[in-house]
Formats: sequence, structure tokens, C-alpha cells
Amino acid sequence: MSDERVFIGDFTRKEFRERMKAGTIHAAIVPTAATEQHNEHLHMIHDTLHASYMAEHAARRLNPNIIVATPVAIGVSEHWMEHIGTLTVRPEIFCEYVFDVCHSLVRAGIKNILILNGHGGNVKPMMRRIDEYRDKLNINLRFQSYWDVYDTKLVQEQMENGRLPGHADEFETSTMLYLDPERVHIEEIDNESAALGNREKGEAMIEPAIQGVVSLLENMVSGKKIDLPTVTFTPEGKENLVTGKPE
Ligand SMILES: [Zn+2]
Repeated sequence: MSDERVFIGDFTRKEFRERMKAGTIHAAIVPTAATEQHNEHLHMIHDTLHASYMAEHAARRLNPNIIVATPVAIGVSEHWMEHIGTLTVRPEIFCEYVFDVCHSLVRAGIKNILILNGHGGNVKPMMRRIDEYRDKLNINLRFQSYWDVYDTKLVQEQMENGRLPGHADEFETSTMLYLDPERVHIEEIDNESAALGNREKGEAMIEPAIQGVVSLLENMVSGKKIDLPTVTFTPEGKENLVTGKPE
């Protein structure tokens, strides 16, 4: 039976130690996301499921060279606290917590870490700290959202509203309809934009994300210079999430 395991928690300490000793593990992924309101029709764990899914599937394609850490499932969601049930942490707590997770991996001997994000609210806080964290850890450390790997043409072809990731919108509704339709309460959709979502669009968007994360990991491990801004997609095109400028 082939060994498809990639989640660090699924290994014994002996198995992990032996893989590290043999030089098998080239990089780690730390998924980060949120537990927050996703409109009336999607589950609050949505972003975390997505970041974890992309991490797991990208790691499997590069098995046994990539390990996936336990996801950081509560992020910076202060902007949604009016919708009860949302869980949030302060930006500095989020960043420091993620740093400590990365530091643990560095102490295990990991030299390449991709923090793979699935929630927009985490981007600005972490981008303010990432250079400092890279210096402190003295390794190849990157922070990207999984949608950063999309090209604008694909987004414009597939998303009628031109937005990605949006929030509980066409994109997120589509991808969840593909991955786990029971997590989409279709009858509760209350806006036109989310109603544009369908399974086919979701299917079309999942594979390029996994493939993009695979390439990103390969480039990280081989030491290539990577120019991949943290972005959001709007009907006008790709926009840098930190500077607010077009890319
Ligand atoms: Zn979301």
C-alpha cells in the first residue's frame, strides 16, 4: 500500500525523525485561515477547509518531500464580529502564533516553509511581519494565499463577477459545491453574486490552485527567486492586497 500521509500529526515521532534524518522532507506547509461567518449559506470553517485541502493535495503530489503542519484555524476576523459565531484573534497574536509554529518546524530541521493562507483578513497583518520572521528564523519562509497562484485570465474566464476570493461569493460557493456540496446550503443563498456559483466553476478552479502551489513549493525548494504578490481579483483585474495597487 502506498503511503499517502502528509499531515505531521499522522506520523509517529520515530517516523518523522527518520524522515528528517534521511533528508526526505524538503519543505513544510503551514495552512492558515479562519473560523468566521460565511454568509447564510456556507459553513464557518470554509476558509480553513480550503487552505488545508490545497496544502494536502499539493503535498501529496510531491510526496514524500512535503509535510503539512496542523492548520491555524482561527485568524484575524475582527471585521465580522457583528455576526456571532465568528472567532477572531488579535493580529499580533495571530502572527506570533504562526511564527511559533514555524519556529517549531525550524527546530526540527526544516529549511523551507510555506505559510499557505486561505483567509483575506490574515494577509496584511502577516505581510507586515514576514520579512522580520524570515530573518529571525534564517530559512526560506514565504506567506502566500492559495489564490495568489491564479492567473488573471483564468479568473476572468470562470468568475462572472470577476471577484476572487470574494467572501462567500461566486468563487467560494463554486469551490465548495465541487469539494463538498453538503456544506453549501443552496436554499439560503441571498445574493445574486453567490447564486452565480456552480460545481463546474469550482472544478475548474481547484486543479490550477493545487498545481500552482506545487510549482511554488518546487521553486522554493530549488531556491528559485519567486515573484508572487499577495493579491485579490476584482473585475478590473489583479490587485495587490497590501498596496491596493493593480498588479
Ligand atoms: Zn472565505
